[in-house]
Amino acid sequence: MNKSRRIFMMQSVAVGLSLPLAKFALAAEAVNEKDKQAISLGYVSDTKKVDKAKYPKHAETQHCSNCMFYQGKEGDKAGACPLFPGKEVAANAWCSSYTAKAKVG
Ligand code: SF4
Repeated sequence: MNKSRRIFMMQSVAVGLSLPLAKFALAAEAVNEKDKQAISLGYVSDTKKVDKAKYPKHAETQHCSNCMFYQGKEGDKAGACPLFPGKEVAANAWCSSYTAKAKVG
């Protein structure tokens, strides 16, 4: 095998290996309700499952997608939150740090 053919083969293998890894890197892991951080913040993936005895001020209209910390776009099923670095919170989730987005206008 000549040198240029060998280089082409190595580049093809490298591209073939990098594509699945790039796809994997784009998909952030969902926050698990049983993670230490999630438990400490009372995180639940469905705002309807909040322990009302423990969080009496919670309202079912409160969820990540209308929290000021949520970084997902409108309509996304999940998005980033600085309280859970490197992970995604569900749009319909809730935690005790919930803060309503300021209304504009
Ligand atoms: S801080 Fe807001 S966006 Fe982040 S998990 Fe709590 S409720 Fe959801």
